[in-house]
Amino acid sequence: MSRIRLLPEIVASQVAAGEVVERPASVVKELVENSIDAGAGKIDVLIRRGGISLMRVIDDGCGMDRDDALLSLERHATSKIRSVSDLEAISTLGFRGEALPSIASVSRFRLTTREPDAVAGTEIVVNGGKIDIVRDGGEAPGTQVEVRSLFYNVPARRKFLRAENTESRNIEHQLHLQAIGHAQIAFTFARDDRVAFQLPATATLTDRIRDLYGNELLQQLVALNGSHSPQIRISGLVGQAGLSRQTRAQQLVFVNGRAIESPLITAAVREGYHTALMKGQYPVTFLFLELDPGGVDVNVHPAKREVRFRDPNGVREAIARCIQETLARGRADWQEKFRAPPAAPTQPTVDLTLRPQVIVPEESHRELPQFPMTPDVGRGGSLNRPQTPVRLGPIEVDRPYQEAQGDEEAKPYKQQQFQIIGVLNKLYVLMENADGLVLVDQHAAHERILFEELRRRMEEQGVPAQKLLITQTFELPPRDADWIEQNLSILQKMGIGIESFGPNTFKIDSLPGFLNVTDGAQFMRKVIDDLKSASERSSPLRLGEDMIAKSVCRHAVKANDPLRYLEVEKLIQDLLECDLPYCCPHGRPTMIQISNAELEKKFGRKV
Ligand code: ADP
Ligand code: MG
Repeated sequence: MSRIRLLPEIVASQVAAGEVVERPASVVKELVENSIDAGAGKIDVLIRRGGISLMRVIDDGCGMDRDDALLSLERHATSKIRSVSDLEAISTLGFRGEALPSIASVSRFRLTTREPDAVAGTEIVVNGGKIDIVRDGGEAPGTQVEVRSLFYNVPARRKFLRAENTESRNIEHQLHLQAIGHAQIAFTFARDDRVAFQLPATATLTDRIRDLYGNELLQQLVALNGSHSPQIRISGLVGQAGLSRQTRAQQLVFVNGRAIESPLITAAVREGYHTALMKGQYPVTFLFLELDPGGVDVNVHPAKREVRFRDPNGVREAIARCIQETLARGRADWQEKFRAPPAAPTQPTVDLTLRPQVIVPEESHRELPQFPMTPDVGRGGSLNRPQTPVRLGPIEVDRPYQEAQGDEEAKPYKQQQFQIIGVLNKLYVLMENADGLVLVDQHAAHERILFEELRRRMEEQGVPAQKLLITQTFELPPRDADWIEQNLSILQKMGIGIESFGPNTFKIDSLPGFLNVTDGAQFMRKVIDDLKSASERSSPLRLGEDMIAKSVCRHAVKANDPLRYLEVEKLIQDLLECDLPYCCPHGRPTMIQISNAELEKKFGRKV
């Protein structure tokens, strides 16, 4: 007896629908993509109860005549591609011809559509995949799709829906993606009959981000431009070094206008940020990639969220490099923030204990005011200073600080006058600039300085190695051994004294001096593991950087280490000289600014 049966059409389309219509947000995504493909200038979205009871998408796009409207509900019916070769260069968001029939098969569905110059439009009502009504409809030009009672006929699916609020948030996120990807289109979104956002059509991404997230975020973003590869154009905005989020929600990536999720790009972005991003945090990106449609395959998954690149390594390198360069470019503006206000404040005539004077060179050796002050501190007397100040400076790195200054090309920073007011809580250096108050975290700043110092050292002549008391030998699996063989010289630069000692066996007799390692073999296995988990092409020098980043924390001045004026001044100067001064090697910011405007607001001088 034969056991194989062809599935009835309705069952087949519900099976297919499962892949496209995962949840309400996927319905909104597909409908909005159709509106964008239809050339809409304005898209209105309305949902009720997390989209489960109603989702409605209205556009002013090209509309459809009756035949097309009926065809659009057939599976694999599309106006966007015709042949296999079209699949190789897709320039529309849709192309599978699956969305409308899938959605219509799992909901109570109503489509009204009219071409701009047609006298009458068409209305089609479908329930659970069955066409119930086809008639003239008189809506405005464009298309309106209404989806009610999602999954009413697929109880298994309905069970997987989350709370209405969660579904609403997913829909809103989806709309953010579309709105960011298409700034030239006006969007409105109403949730349970309240307007959640209303975005006018704008000319630029910057305006769209301002409308959606406000000026405050915008000020923390830097513009990406250009790439060195002719195959890929990179644009958009990304967060400055030190800006990060606890979730991925603002890590947006668009490939040829399509919002996508790509582990490859995520890795590239991380590589670009490297030490400018806090561990476990996510960067903020509005990253736009444009490639020749032939260089990217979007036909990977029914939901079209994933893509495959023809040249993944090229894409990764281009992104990492573009981000790196962009972050480094912001340095001059950042340094400007340290400039003392143009007119030095007038000498106070009244005694202001908490108001230190402008620092003049002869005074350089004096101690800085330490806030908070202890009660017994008299005016002008010695300030709160419990211990001998710590000596700043790199850990046993003999390269004199002055050396860097001869190198004007590489270091556009010129010594500038900054005005240090004092140190708060033995941690935050307070400074004044034209814009208000600047606070520098002395620990974070010193970490950054040490990090760059050691990295330079590693690249130039290698970090100092420390002999182990006992030489160790250890064996590795062939592939790991191979890797070590190939990278022996770099490992030695990193201060790892390692050499071959027979097949797949190595001898290790020294380790980087700044590390606190006793078991060399164990350390090497960890190094190899780290390297494996890093992207395959990431250079061993990167690994060295990570080792340094981990160790500088122990050597940097701590909170609670009181510093003298000269030391603080040198700290700030050294920081300003760094390649990436904005944050410590773990991605925490080194400096924050509190503007005069903010202060005035807080004091109620200005609303
Ligand atoms: P796809 O978008 O992959 O082509 P869909 O099932 O989403 O498949 O849509 C089928 C077809 O219906 C589209 O190719 C398009 O021609 C037409 N269509 C869908 N939505 C709209 C719309 N909002 N405005 C105009 N035409 C539309
Ligand atoms: Mg579509």
